[in-house]
Amino acid sequence: MPFKNEQHYQDLRAYVREMADRLELRDWTTFLHREVQTTGEYTASMSCTYGRKFVHIYIAESFFEMTLEAQRQTIAHELIHVHFYGWRWAFNNLQKILSGTTFAIVENSIRDQEELAVDAMADAIARYLPLPTKPNRRKRATAMATRDKNDLVKGKDKPPLDAECDRDRTLSEFE
Ligand SMILES: [Zn+2]
Repeated sequence: MPFKNEQHYQDLRAYVREMADRLELRDWTTFLHREVQTTGEYTASMSCTYGRKFVHIYIAESFFEMTLEAQRQTIAHELIHVHFYGWRWAFNNLQKILSGTTFAIVENSIRDQEELAVDAMADAIARYLPLPTKPNRRKRATAMATRDKNDLVKGKDKPPLDAECDRDRTLSEFE
């Protein structure tokens, strides 16, 4: 099922780009999948293209039922995963020397710990990041995002990189 509202898709796509910039992923290209996931238990998921700094974000239907604060935490969560991807690729090389069962047990344990770490980081950092734009309420959401930026400048974290954030390095939507 594609996004119902094209403007909302474009806003969220730009938001993912801005969040990636703020989360030190300026050298990564972000793709927001246009197709909304209707199955599965996750509100969002991500994957990276092996050998390229491409991150793909997938949104599920349940994402739209969340508060803007929860959506912000979710996008931050998915993007923070990118910082662990190189390490995960390195770990995958162990498949060559470990038995399938051993590899699966260790991988599951590591994934569980990564989820805990990523979620804790997202909880801690998300409050310093702007909120996404609500469909059909662009002015209000923009004002809220500006207020968040101002909070950031007041010393809770380093200033936002406005010049960097204005760049749209999202190449094209991933479909
Ligand atoms: Zn996760």
